[in-house]
Amino acid sequence: MTIPTRRRDELTDRKGQLGPSAGGSGRIGPSARAGVVYLVGAGPGDPGLMTIRSLELIAAADTVFYDRLIPPGALSGAREEAELVYVGKQPGVPSVPQEEIGERLIEAARAGRSVVRLKGGDPFVFGRGGEEGEALRAAGIEFEVVPGVTAGVAATAYAGIPVTHRDEASAVAFVTGHEDPDKEGTALDWEALARFPGTLVFYMGVKRLAENAAALIAAGRDPEEPAAAIERGTMAGQRTVEATLGTIAGAVAREEVKAPALIVVGPVARRREQLAWLERRPLHGRRVVVTRARAQASGLAATLRSLGAEVVELPAIRIEPRIESDDVEEAVARIGEYSLVCLTSPNGARLLFDALAAGGDGTEGDRAGGKRVRDARVLAGTTIAAIGPGTARALAEHGIQADVVPRRFVAEAMVEALAAVEVEGKRVLVARAVEARDVLPDALRERGAEVDVVALYETVREEPGAEEIEAAQSADYVTFTSSSTVTNLTEALGDRFPADARIVSIGPVTSEAARAAGLEVDIEAERHDIDGLLAALLADAAS
Ligand code: SAH
Repeated sequence: MTIPTRRRDELTDRKGQLGPSAGGSGRIGPSARAGVVYLVGAGPGDPGLMTIRSLELIAAADTVFYDRLIPPGALSGAREEAELVYVGKQPGVPSVPQEEIGERLIEAARAGRSVVRLKGGDPFVFGRGGEEGEALRAAGIEFEVVPGVTAGVAATAYAGIPVTHRDEASAVAFVTGHEDPDKEGTALDWEALARFPGTLVFYMGVKRLAENAAALIAAGRDPEEPAAAIERGTMAGQRTVEATLGTIAGAVAREEVKAPALIVVGPVARRREQLAWLERRPLHGRRVVVTRARAQASGLAATLRSLGAEVVELPAIRIEPRIESDDVEEAVARIGEYSLVCLTSPNGARLLFDALAAGGDGTEGDRAGGKRVRDARVLAGTTIAAIGPGTARALAEHGIQADVVPRRFVAEAMVEALAAVEVEGKRVLVARAVEARDVLPDALRERGAEVDVVALYETVREEPGAEEIEAAQSADYVTFTSSSTVTNLTEALGDRFPADARIVSIGPVTSEAARAAGLEVDIEAERHDIDGLLAALLADAAS
Protein backbone atom coordinates (compact mmCIF):
# COMPACT_ATOMS: atom_id res chain seq x y z
CA MET A 1 0.00 0.00 0.00
CA THR A 2 2.98 2.25 0.49
CA ILE A 3 6.48 2.10 -0.77
CA PRO A 4 7.80 0.53 2.34
CA THR A 5 11.53 0.72 2.15
CA ARG A 6 12.07 3.80 0.16
CA ARG A 7 9.28 6.22 0.79
CA ARG A 8 10.52 9.48 2.15
CA ASP A 9 8.15 11.37 4.39
CA GLU A 10 9.45 14.73 3.44
CA LEU A 11 11.67 16.42 1.00
CA THR A 12 14.86 14.56 1.72
CA ASP A 13 17.57 13.14 -0.41
CA ARG A 14 18.56 9.54 -0.06
CA LYS A 15 22.22 10.39 -0.13
CA GLY A 16 22.27 14.00 0.94
CA GLN A 17 23.99 16.21 -1.59
CA LEU A 18 23.17 15.97 -5.25
CA GLY A 19 26.02 14.85 -7.38
CA PRO A 20 26.83 12.28 -10.00
CA SER A 21 26.59 8.80 -8.56
CA ALA A 22 29.16 6.14 -9.25
CA GLY A 23 28.63 5.02 -12.79
CA GLY A 24 25.88 7.56 -13.17
CA SER A 25 27.34 10.44 -15.08
CA GLY A 26 28.29 10.05 -18.65
CA ARG A 27 26.29 6.89 -19.05
CA ILE A 28 24.89 6.81 -22.53
CA GLY A 29 22.25 4.34 -23.44
CA PRO A 30 18.78 4.03 -24.77
CA SER A 31 17.12 3.94 -21.35
CA ALA A 32 18.10 6.98 -19.32
CA ARG A 33 20.72 9.45 -20.41
CA ALA A 34 22.81 11.60 -18.10
CA GLY A 35 21.71 15.22 -17.90
CA VAL A 36 18.25 14.48 -19.24
CA VAL A 37 14.99 14.89 -17.30
CA TYR A 38 12.21 12.42 -17.97
CA LEU A 39 8.71 13.62 -17.13
CA VAL A 40 7.08 10.29 -16.53
CA GLY A 41 3.48 9.29 -15.86
CA ALA A 42 3.08 6.43 -13.37
CA GLY A 43 -0.56 5.70 -14.15
CA PRO A 44 -3.58 5.84 -11.87
CA GLY A 45 -2.52 3.52 -9.05
CA ASP A 46 -2.66 -0.09 -10.21
CA PRO A 47 1.03 -0.99 -10.65
CA GLY A 48 0.04 -3.10 -13.66
CA LEU A 49 -0.90 0.07 -15.52
CA MET A 50 2.61 1.50 -15.47
CA THR A 51 4.16 1.62 -18.91
CA ILE A 52 7.19 -0.40 -19.91
CA ARG A 53 9.01 2.84 -20.65
CA SER A 54 8.33 4.17 -17.15
CA LEU A 55 9.72 1.03 -15.52
CA GLU A 56 12.75 1.08 -17.78
CA LEU A 57 13.51 4.68 -16.85
CA ILE A 58 12.95 4.14 -13.12
CA ALA A 59 15.35 1.20 -13.29
CA ALA A 60 18.02 3.31 -14.95
CA ALA A 61 17.64 6.70 -13.27
CA ASP A 62 20.20 8.31 -10.98
CA THR A 63 17.54 10.43 -9.29
CA VAL A 64 13.77 10.05 -9.05
CA PHE A 65 11.58 12.91 -7.83
CA TYR A 66 8.20 11.46 -7.00
CA ASP A 67 4.73 12.45 -5.91
CA ARG A 68 2.24 11.11 -3.46
CA LEU A 69 -0.10 9.49 -5.98
CA ILE A 70 2.20 6.91 -7.49
CA PRO A 71 1.44 3.20 -7.44
CA PRO A 72 2.62 1.05 -4.55
CA GLY A 73 6.00 -0.43 -5.29
CA ALA A 74 6.54 1.92 -8.25
CA LEU A 75 10.08 2.60 -7.09
CA SER A 76 11.03 -0.92 -6.14
CA GLY A 77 12.87 -1.36 -9.43
CA ALA A 78 15.10 1.66 -8.86
CA ARG A 79 18.82 1.10 -8.56
CA GLU A 80 20.23 0.61 -5.09
CA GLU A 81 22.34 3.77 -5.51
CA ALA A 82 19.55 5.87 -6.98
CA GLU A 83 18.45 8.90 -5.06
CA LEU A 84 14.71 8.89 -4.34
CA VAL A 85 13.27 12.24 -3.45
CA TYR A 86 9.71 12.78 -2.30
CA VAL A 87 8.31 16.12 -3.41
CA GLY A 88 4.60 15.47 -2.96
CA LYS A 89 2.12 16.96 -0.58
CA GLN A 90 1.88 15.90 3.04
CA PRO A 91 -1.16 16.59 5.15
CA GLY A 92 -0.30 19.46 7.46
CA VAL A 93 3.08 20.12 5.89
CA PRO A 94 3.64 22.93 3.40
CA SER A 95 4.18 21.31 0.04
CA VAL A 96 7.32 21.84 -1.96
CA PRO A 97 6.62 24.88 -4.15
CA GLN A 98 6.39 24.15 -7.86
CA GLU A 99 9.23 26.55 -8.57
CA GLU A 100 11.53 24.71 -6.22
CA ILE A 101 10.72 21.38 -7.86
CA GLY A 102 11.69 22.89 -11.21
CA GLU A 103 14.93 24.17 -9.75
CA ARG A 104 15.81 20.84 -8.26
CA LEU A 105 15.19 19.05 -11.56
CA ILE A 106 17.49 21.51 -13.30
CA GLU A 107 20.15 21.24 -10.60
CA ALA A 108 20.15 17.42 -10.77
CA ALA A 109 20.34 17.37 -14.57
CA ARG A 110 23.19 19.91 -14.55
CA ALA A 111 25.03 17.69 -12.08
CA GLY A 112 25.08 15.11 -14.84
CA ARG A 113 22.43 12.83 -13.43
CA SER A 114 19.66 11.08 -15.30
CA VAL A 115 16.50 12.35 -13.68
CA VAL A 116 13.03 10.85 -13.59
CA ARG A 117 10.20 13.11 -12.49
CA LEU A 118 7.46 10.62 -11.64
CA LYS A 119 3.86 11.73 -11.39
CA GLY A 120 0.53 10.02 -10.93
CA GLY A 121 -1.54 9.40 -14.07
CA ASP A 122 -0.28 11.37 -17.04
CA PRO A 123 2.23 14.19 -16.52
CA PHE A 124 0.42 16.56 -18.86
CA VAL A 125 -3.12 15.95 -17.57
CA PHE A 126 -3.52 18.18 -14.50
CA GLY A 127 -0.02 17.16 -13.55
CA ARG A 128 1.86 20.44 -14.00
CA GLY A 129 4.19 18.59 -16.33
CA GLY A 130 3.78 21.44 -18.79
CA GLU A 131 5.19 23.95 -16.33
CA GLU A 132 8.12 21.70 -15.48
CA GLY A 133 8.87 21.18 -19.17
CA GLU A 134 8.85 24.95 -19.72
CA ALA A 135 11.24 25.49 -16.82
CA LEU A 136 13.57 22.84 -18.24
CA ARG A 137 13.45 24.33 -21.73
CA ALA A 138 14.20 27.80 -20.33
CA ALA A 139 17.22 26.35 -18.56
CA GLY A 140 18.36 24.56 -21.70
CA ILE A 141 17.86 21.09 -20.20
CA GLU A 142 16.84 18.29 -22.52
CA PHE A 143 13.71 16.42 -21.50
CA GLU A 144 11.44 13.60 -22.63
CA VAL A 145 7.77 13.13 -21.79
CA VAL A 146 6.47 9.65 -21.04
CA PRO A 147 2.68 9.64 -21.05
CA GLY A 148 0.87 7.70 -18.37
CA VAL A 149 -2.58 6.19 -18.19
CA THR A 150 -4.67 9.06 -16.89
CA ALA A 151 -7.26 8.57 -14.14
CA GLY A 152 -9.99 9.96 -16.37
CA VAL A 153 -9.92 6.91 -18.61
CA ALA A 154 -8.56 4.36 -16.14
CA ALA A 155 -10.73 4.85 -13.04
CA THR A 156 -13.77 5.07 -15.31
CA ALA A 157 -12.83 1.89 -17.17
CA TYR A 158 -12.30 0.04 -13.88
CA ALA A 159 -15.73 1.27 -12.79
CA GLY A 160 -17.30 -0.07 -15.98
CA ILE A 161 -17.98 3.38 -17.44
CA PRO A 162 -16.94 3.92 -21.07
CA VAL A 163 -16.14 7.62 -21.40
CA THR A 164 -17.34 7.58 -25.00
CA HIS A 165 -20.07 5.41 -26.41
CA ARG A 166 -21.44 5.09 -29.92
CA ASP A 167 -24.97 5.81 -28.79
CA GLU A 168 -24.47 8.07 -25.83
CA ALA A 169 -21.30 10.14 -25.94
CA SER A 170 -19.35 11.35 -28.95
CA ALA A 171 -17.01 13.48 -26.92
CA VAL A 172 -15.39 13.57 -23.51
CA ALA A 173 -14.07 16.54 -21.58
CA PHE A 174 -11.51 16.41 -18.78
CA VAL A 175 -12.30 19.26 -16.45
CA THR A 176 -10.69 20.47 -13.26
CA GLY A 177 -13.15 20.67 -10.42
CA HIS A 178 -10.81 22.67 -8.31
CA GLU A 179 -9.62 25.89 -9.84
CA ASP A 180 -6.41 27.47 -8.73
CA PRO A 181 -7.65 29.99 -6.14
CA ASP A 182 -4.98 32.45 -7.26
CA LYS A 183 -6.37 32.51 -10.76
CA GLU A 184 -8.27 35.63 -11.71
CA GLY A 185 -12.02 35.15 -12.07
CA THR A 186 -13.20 31.65 -12.85
CA ALA A 187 -11.81 29.98 -15.89
CA LEU A 188 -14.58 27.41 -16.15
CA ASP A 189 -17.30 28.35 -18.60
CA TRP A 190 -20.28 26.58 -17.04
CA GLU A 191 -22.60 27.45 -19.95
CA ALA A 192 -20.24 25.79 -22.38
CA LEU A 193 -19.83 22.76 -20.11
CA ALA A 194 -23.61 22.51 -19.71
CA ARG A 195 -23.98 22.48 -23.51
CA PHE A 196 -21.01 20.13 -24.04
CA PRO A 197 -22.28 17.19 -26.13
CA GLY A 198 -20.60 14.39 -24.24
CA THR A 199 -19.21 13.06 -21.00
CA LEU A 200 -17.74 15.41 -18.38
CA VAL A 201 -14.98 13.98 -16.22
CA PHE A 202 -14.02 16.17 -13.26
CA TYR A 203 -10.61 15.75 -11.68
CA MET A 204 -10.05 17.13 -8.17
CA GLY A 205 -13.79 17.49 -7.98
CA VAL A 206 -14.79 16.31 -4.49
CA LYS A 207 -14.22 19.43 -2.45
CA ARG A 208 -16.19 21.79 -4.65
CA LEU A 209 -18.69 19.24 -5.91
CA ALA A 210 -21.84 20.87 -4.49
CA GLU A 211 -20.99 24.28 -6.04
CA ASN A 212 -19.93 22.76 -9.36
CA ALA A 213 -23.02 20.56 -9.74
CA ALA A 214 -25.25 23.52 -8.89
CA ALA A 215 -23.40 25.70 -11.42
CA LEU A 216 -23.85 23.09 -14.16
CA ILE A 217 -27.57 22.73 -13.43
CA ALA A 218 -28.02 26.51 -13.27
CA ALA A 219 -26.35 26.74 -16.67
CA GLY A 220 -28.87 24.29 -18.10
CA ARG A 221 -27.48 20.75 -17.69
CA ASP A 222 -30.21 18.22 -16.83
CA PRO A 223 -30.21 17.39 -13.09
CA GLU A 224 -31.52 13.90 -13.97
CA GLU A 225 -28.40 13.08 -15.98
CA PRO A 226 -26.57 10.03 -14.58
CA ALA A 227 -23.43 10.76 -12.58
CA ALA A 228 -20.89 8.75 -10.63
CA ALA A 229 -18.01 9.33 -8.23
CA ILE A 230 -15.08 6.92 -8.43
CA GLU A 231 -12.83 6.84 -5.39
CA ARG A 232 -9.30 5.34 -5.49
CA GLY A 233 -9.85 4.12 -9.04
CA THR A 234 -7.76 1.04 -10.04
CA MET A 235 -6.37 0.79 -6.51
CA ALA A 236 -7.22 -1.62 -3.73
CA GLY A 237 -10.51 -0.51 -2.27
CA GLN A 238 -11.81 1.25 -5.40
CA ARG A 239 -15.37 2.40 -4.77
CA THR A 240 -18.02 3.89 -7.03
CA VAL A 241 -21.02 5.90 -5.90
CA GLU A 242 -23.84 6.28 -8.41
CA ALA A 243 -26.34 9.13 -8.48
CA THR A 244 -27.61 11.85 -10.81
CA LEU A 245 -26.14 15.29 -11.38
CA GLY A 246 -28.79 16.62 -8.99
CA THR A 247 -28.05 14.13 -6.21
CA ILE A 248 -24.32 13.36 -6.62
CA ALA A 249 -23.10 15.98 -4.13
CA GLY A 250 -25.40 14.63 -1.40
CA ALA A 251 -24.44 11.02 -2.19
CA VAL A 252 -20.72 11.78 -2.11
CA ALA A 253 -21.06 13.58 1.24
CA ARG A 254 -23.18 10.79 2.69
CA GLU A 255 -20.80 8.05 1.53
CA GLU A 256 -17.80 10.12 2.61
CA VAL A 257 -16.02 9.80 -0.71
CA LYS A 258 -12.49 11.13 -0.36
CA ALA A 259 -9.74 12.16 -2.75
CA PRO A 260 -8.45 10.88 -5.02
CA ALA A 261 -11.78 10.64 -6.75
CA LEU A 262 -13.23 11.48 -10.13
CA ILE A 263 -16.72 12.75 -10.86
CA VAL A 264 -18.29 11.56 -14.11
CA VAL A 265 -21.38 13.25 -15.56
CA GLY A 266 -23.15 11.77 -18.56
CA PRO A 267 -25.48 9.00 -19.69
CA VAL A 268 -22.49 6.64 -19.93
CA ALA A 269 -22.37 6.53 -16.11
CA ARG A 270 -25.45 4.29 -16.29
CA ARG A 271 -23.63 1.77 -18.51
CA ARG A 272 -22.06 0.45 -15.33
CA GLU A 273 -25.13 -1.68 -14.86
CA GLN A 274 -23.94 -3.76 -17.81
CA LEU A 275 -20.23 -3.16 -17.74
CA ALA A 276 -19.10 -3.20 -14.12
CA TRP A 277 -16.53 -6.00 -13.91
CA LEU A 278 -14.24 -5.27 -10.98
CA GLU A 279 -17.03 -5.82 -8.47
CA ARG A 280 -17.79 -9.17 -10.03
CA ARG A 281 -14.46 -10.73 -9.22
CA PRO A 282 -14.83 -13.45 -6.60
CA LEU A 283 -12.80 -11.79 -3.85
CA HIS A 284 -13.77 -8.18 -4.57
CA GLY A 285 -14.08 -6.17 -1.39
CA ARG A 286 -12.37 -8.82 0.72
CA ARG A 287 -9.24 -8.03 2.64
CA VAL A 288 -6.91 -11.00 2.94
CA VAL A 289 -3.80 -11.23 5.11
CA VAL A 290 -0.85 -13.19 3.72
CA THR A 291 1.53 -14.35 6.42
CA ARG A 292 4.16 -16.17 4.37
CA ALA A 293 7.75 -15.03 4.38
CA ARG A 294 8.10 -12.04 2.08
CA ALA A 295 10.31 -13.92 -0.36
CA GLN A 296 7.56 -16.48 -0.96
CA ALA A 297 4.45 -14.36 -0.53
CA SER A 298 4.40 -12.77 -3.97
CA GLY A 299 2.77 -15.64 -5.87
CA LEU A 300 -0.07 -16.06 -3.41
CA ALA A 301 -0.52 -12.31 -3.04
CA ALA A 302 -0.63 -11.78 -6.82
CA THR A 303 -3.22 -14.50 -7.33
CA LEU A 304 -5.39 -13.13 -4.53
CA ARG A 305 -5.18 -9.65 -6.06
CA SER A 306 -6.10 -10.96 -9.49
CA LEU A 307 -9.19 -12.47 -7.90
CA GLY A 308 -10.11 -9.03 -6.60
CA ALA A 309 -8.87 -9.21 -3.02
CA GLU A 310 -7.12 -6.45 -1.22
CA VAL A 311 -3.98 -8.09 0.13
CA VAL A 312 -2.20 -7.15 3.34
CA GLU A 313 1.24 -8.70 3.54
CA LEU A 314 2.07 -9.44 7.14
CA PRO A 315 5.06 -11.75 6.89
CA ALA A 316 5.41 -13.61 10.17
CA ILE A 317 8.64 -15.32 9.36
CA ARG A 318 11.83 -14.92 7.45
CA ILE A 319 14.09 -17.66 6.15
CA GLU A 320 17.58 -17.60 7.64
CA PRO A 321 19.83 -19.94 5.62
CA ARG A 322 22.23 -22.16 7.59
CA ILE A 323 24.18 -23.53 4.66
CA GLU A 324 27.47 -22.52 6.21
CA SER A 325 26.90 -24.54 9.37
CA ASP A 326 29.23 -27.49 9.99
CA ASP A 327 26.57 -30.18 9.76
CA VAL A 328 25.30 -28.90 6.41
CA GLU A 329 28.81 -28.54 5.00
CA GLU A 330 29.64 -32.06 6.05
CA ALA A 331 26.47 -33.59 4.66
CA VAL A 332 26.96 -31.75 1.39
CA ALA A 333 30.60 -32.85 1.13
CA ARG A 334 29.47 -36.48 1.41
CA ILE A 335 26.27 -36.16 -0.52
CA GLY A 336 27.26 -38.98 -2.87
CA GLU A 337 27.19 -41.47 0.01
CA TYR A 338 23.45 -41.13 0.57
CA SER A 339 21.19 -43.48 -1.29
CA LEU A 340 18.11 -41.38 -0.50
CA VAL A 341 17.79 -37.60 -0.03
CA CYS A 342 14.48 -36.20 1.27
CA LEU A 343 13.58 -32.55 0.85
CA THR A 344 10.68 -31.16 2.80
CA SER A 345 10.17 -27.67 1.33
CA PRO A 346 10.97 -25.59 -1.76
CA ASN A 347 13.31 -23.50 0.40
CA GLY A 348 15.13 -26.64 1.38
CA ALA A 349 15.48 -27.70 -2.24
CA ARG A 350 16.88 -24.34 -3.33
CA LEU A 351 19.21 -24.07 -0.37
CA LEU A 352 20.58 -27.55 -0.95
CA PHE A 353 21.82 -26.40 -4.33
CA ASP A 354 23.17 -23.19 -2.81
CA ALA A 355 24.99 -25.33 -0.29
CA LEU A 356 26.34 -27.56 -3.06
CA ALA A 357 27.55 -24.57 -5.03
CA ALA A 358 29.16 -23.05 -1.95
CA GLY A 359 30.75 -26.37 -0.92
CA GLY A 360 34.35 -26.05 0.26
CA ASP A 361 37.34 -28.28 -0.45
CA GLY A 362 36.03 -31.60 -1.46
CA THR A 363 37.38 -35.08 -1.61
CA GLU A 364 37.09 -35.47 -5.32
CA GLY A 365 39.84 -33.24 -6.57
CA ASP A 366 39.70 -29.65 -7.66
CA ARG A 367 38.81 -28.26 -11.04
CA ALA A 368 41.20 -26.09 -12.96
CA GLY A 369 41.66 -22.77 -11.22
CA GLY A 370 41.27 -24.37 -7.83
CA LYS A 371 37.53 -23.86 -7.63
CA ARG A 372 35.56 -27.00 -7.30
CA VAL A 373 32.09 -26.94 -8.77
CA ARG A 374 29.32 -29.00 -7.30
CA ASP A 375 25.97 -29.22 -9.02
CA ALA A 376 23.13 -31.62 -9.73
CA ARG A 377 25.59 -34.22 -11.05
CA VAL A 378 26.61 -35.19 -7.51
CA LEU A 379 23.08 -36.58 -7.05
CA ALA A 380 23.30 -38.85 -10.09
CA GLY A 381 22.96 -42.12 -8.21
CA THR A 382 20.66 -40.90 -5.46
CA THR A 383 16.92 -41.39 -5.01
CA ILE A 384 15.31 -37.99 -4.40
CA ALA A 385 12.06 -37.50 -2.52
CA ALA A 386 10.17 -34.18 -2.48
CA ILE A 387 7.38 -33.60 -0.02
CA GLY A 388 5.07 -31.84 -2.47
CA PRO A 389 4.70 -30.32 -5.93
CA GLY A 390 6.32 -26.99 -4.90
CA THR A 391 9.43 -28.78 -3.69
CA ALA A 392 9.45 -30.91 -6.83
CA ARG A 393 9.31 -27.72 -8.93
CA ALA A 394 12.21 -26.20 -7.01
CA LEU A 395 14.22 -29.36 -7.73
CA ALA A 396 13.22 -29.27 -11.38
CA GLU A 397 14.69 -25.75 -11.61
CA HIS A 398 18.02 -27.47 -10.99
CA GLY A 399 17.43 -30.26 -13.45
CA ILE A 400 16.33 -32.89 -10.96
CA GLN A 401 13.10 -34.82 -11.41
CA ALA A 402 12.08 -36.09 -7.98
CA ASP A 403 11.63 -39.86 -7.80
CA VAL A 404 9.04 -39.73 -5.05
CA VAL A 405 6.38 -37.03 -4.57
CA PRO A 406 3.55 -38.00 -2.22
CA ARG A 407 0.09 -36.84 -3.11
CA ARG A 408 -0.55 -35.21 0.22
CA PHE A 409 1.80 -32.56 1.43
CA VAL A 410 2.53 -33.87 4.95
CA ALA A 411 5.33 -35.94 6.49
CA GLU A 412 3.03 -38.91 7.07
CA ALA A 413 2.23 -39.10 3.36
CA MET A 414 5.94 -38.95 2.59
CA VAL A 415 6.51 -41.91 4.91
CA GLU A 416 3.85 -43.88 3.02
CA ALA A 417 5.18 -42.89 -0.36
CA LEU A 418 8.66 -44.07 0.64
CA ALA A 419 7.41 -47.54 1.58
CA ALA A 420 8.52 -48.91 -1.78
CA VAL A 421 12.04 -47.47 -1.50
CA GLU A 422 14.69 -49.83 -0.06
CA VAL A 423 16.30 -48.09 2.94
CA GLU A 424 17.45 -50.83 5.27
CA GLY A 425 21.14 -50.40 6.09
CA LYS A 426 21.33 -47.45 3.70
CA ARG A 427 22.32 -43.89 4.41
CA VAL A 428 19.53 -41.35 4.14
CA LEU A 429 19.69 -37.55 4.31
CA VAL A 430 16.69 -35.54 5.48
CA ALA A 431 17.35 -31.90 4.67
CA ARG A 432 14.83 -29.53 6.18
CA ALA A 433 14.16 -26.61 8.55
CA VAL A 434 15.46 -26.46 12.12
CA GLU A 435 12.02 -26.55 13.62
CA ALA A 436 10.54 -29.46 11.64
CA ARG A 437 8.81 -32.49 13.12
CA ASP A 438 10.61 -35.85 13.43
CA VAL A 439 7.93 -38.03 11.84
CA LEU A 440 9.94 -38.75 8.72
CA PRO A 441 13.42 -39.46 10.20
CA ASP A 442 11.85 -41.57 12.95
CA ALA A 443 9.93 -43.71 10.46
CA LEU A 444 13.01 -44.19 8.29
CA ARG A 445 15.16 -45.17 11.27
CA GLU A 446 12.53 -47.69 12.29
CA ARG A 447 12.98 -49.28 8.90
CA GLY A 448 16.69 -49.67 9.53
CA ALA A 449 18.02 -46.65 7.68
CA GLU A 450 20.98 -44.68 8.92
CA VAL A 451 19.46 -41.20 8.89
CA ASP A 452 21.27 -37.85 8.99
CA VAL A 453 19.06 -34.86 9.60
CA VAL A 454 20.42 -31.45 8.67
CA ALA A 455 18.74 -28.09 8.97
CA LEU A 456 19.35 -26.02 5.84
CA TYR A 457 17.54 -23.03 7.25
CA GLU A 458 15.84 -21.66 10.23
CA THR A 459 12.62 -19.71 10.14
CA VAL A 460 12.92 -16.68 12.37
CA ARG A 461 10.25 -14.25 13.41
CA GLU A 462 9.70 -11.13 11.31
CA GLU A 463 8.37 -8.11 13.17
CA PRO A 464 5.34 -6.86 11.25
CA GLY A 465 5.11 -3.14 10.46
CA ALA A 466 2.66 -0.91 12.32
CA GLU A 467 0.91 0.14 9.12
CA GLU A 468 0.34 -3.46 8.03
CA ILE A 469 -0.94 -4.46 11.46
CA GLU A 470 -3.39 -1.57 11.30
CA ALA A 471 -4.54 -2.60 7.81
CA ALA A 472 -4.96 -6.18 9.00
CA GLN A 473 -7.40 -5.21 11.74
CA SER A 474 -10.32 -5.12 9.34
CA ALA A 475 -9.27 -8.23 7.41
CA ASP A 476 -11.86 -10.76 6.31
CA TYR A 477 -9.37 -13.61 6.11
CA VAL A 478 -5.99 -14.48 7.57
CA THR A 479 -4.18 -17.21 5.63
CA PHE A 480 -1.66 -19.55 7.23
CA THR A 481 0.62 -21.74 5.17
CA SER A 482 2.71 -23.30 7.94
CA SER A 483 2.70 -23.81 11.68
CA SER A 484 5.69 -21.51 12.08
CA THR A 485 3.74 -18.62 10.55
CA VAL A 486 0.93 -19.27 13.03
CA THR A 487 3.17 -19.35 16.06
CA ASN A 488 5.25 -16.38 15.07
CA LEU A 489 2.37 -14.16 13.98
CA THR A 490 0.22 -14.83 17.02
CA GLU A 491 3.19 -14.15 19.27
CA ALA A 492 4.14 -11.00 17.39
CA LEU A 493 0.60 -9.59 17.34
CA GLY A 494 -0.70 -10.67 20.74
CA ASP A 495 -4.03 -8.95 21.29
CA ARG A 496 -3.65 -7.04 18.05
CA PHE A 497 -4.43 -10.19 16.11
CA PRO A 498 -7.41 -9.36 13.84
CA ALA A 499 -10.27 -10.66 15.95
CA ASP A 500 -13.01 -10.96 13.32
CA ALA A 501 -11.05 -12.45 10.46
CA ARG A 502 -11.77 -15.97 9.31
CA ILE A 503 -8.74 -18.22 9.67
CA VAL A 504 -7.70 -20.18 6.59
CA SER A 505 -5.21 -23.01 7.13
CA ILE A 506 -3.29 -24.96 4.53
CA GLY A 507 -3.65 -28.29 6.34
CA PRO A 508 -4.05 -30.24 9.57
CA VAL A 509 -0.60 -29.52 11.02
CA THR A 510 -1.03 -25.80 10.55
CA SER A 511 -4.57 -26.00 11.92
CA GLU A 512 -3.34 -27.72 15.01
CA ALA A 513 -0.75 -25.01 15.58
CA ALA A 514 -3.51 -22.43 15.15
CA ARG A 515 -5.72 -24.10 17.72
CA ALA A 516 -2.78 -24.40 20.09
CA ALA A 517 -2.31 -20.64 19.69
CA GLY A 518 -5.92 -20.08 20.69
CA LEU A 519 -7.34 -19.48 17.22
CA GLU A 520 -10.43 -21.05 15.78
CA VAL A 521 -9.76 -22.47 12.32
CA ASP A 522 -12.68 -21.65 10.02
CA ILE A 523 -11.37 -23.12 6.80
CA GLU A 524 -8.90 -25.92 6.18
CA ALA A 525 -7.68 -26.68 2.68
CA GLU A 526 -8.40 -30.13 1.31
CA ARG A 527 -5.28 -30.06 -0.80
CA HIS A 528 -2.38 -28.97 1.33
CA ASP A 529 -0.73 -26.56 -1.03
CA ILE A 530 -1.24 -22.98 -2.16
CA ASP A 531 -3.77 -23.87 -4.85
CA GLY A 532 -5.70 -25.92 -2.32
CA LEU A 533 -5.69 -23.02 0.10
CA LEU A 534 -6.96 -20.65 -2.60
CA ALA A 535 -9.70 -23.07 -3.60
CA ALA A 536 -10.87 -23.35 0.00
CA LEU A 537 -10.86 -19.58 0.46
CA LEU A 538 -12.81 -19.04 -2.78
CA ALA A 539 -15.39 -21.63 -1.80
CA ASP A 540 -15.87 -19.92 1.53
CA ALA A 541 -16.16 -16.46 -0.04
CA ALA A 542 -18.80 -17.74 -2.45
CA SER A 543 -20.91 -19.36 0.24
N1 SAH B 1 -2.01 13.58 -13.63
C1 SAH B 1 -3.08 12.86 -12.99
C2 SAH B 1 -4.10 13.78 -12.37
C3 SAH B 1 -3.54 14.59 -11.24
S1 SAH B 1 -4.77 15.64 -10.53
C4 SAH B 1 -3.74 11.94 -14.03
O1 SAH B 1 -3.45 12.06 -15.22
O2 SAH B 1 -4.55 11.09 -13.64
C5 SAH B 1 -5.29 14.64 -9.17
C6 SAH B 1 -6.72 14.21 -9.40
O3 SAH B 1 -6.74 13.14 -10.32
C7 SAH B 1 -7.41 13.68 -8.17
O4 SAH B 1 -7.95 14.72 -7.40
C8 SAH B 1 -8.49 12.83 -8.78
O5 SAH B 1 -9.56 13.61 -9.22
C9 SAH B 1 -7.80 12.27 -10.00
N2 SAH B 1 -7.23 10.95 -9.71
C10 SAH B 1 -5.95 10.60 -9.74
N3 SAH B 1 -5.81 9.29 -9.47
C11 SAH B 1 -7.06 8.83 -9.28
C12 SAH B 1 -7.59 7.54 -8.98
N4 SAH B 1 -6.79 6.50 -8.83
N5 SAH B 1 -8.93 7.41 -8.87
C13 SAH B 1 -9.74 8.47 -9.02
N6 SAH B 1 -9.29 9.69 -9.31
C14 SAH B 1 -7.97 9.88 -9.43
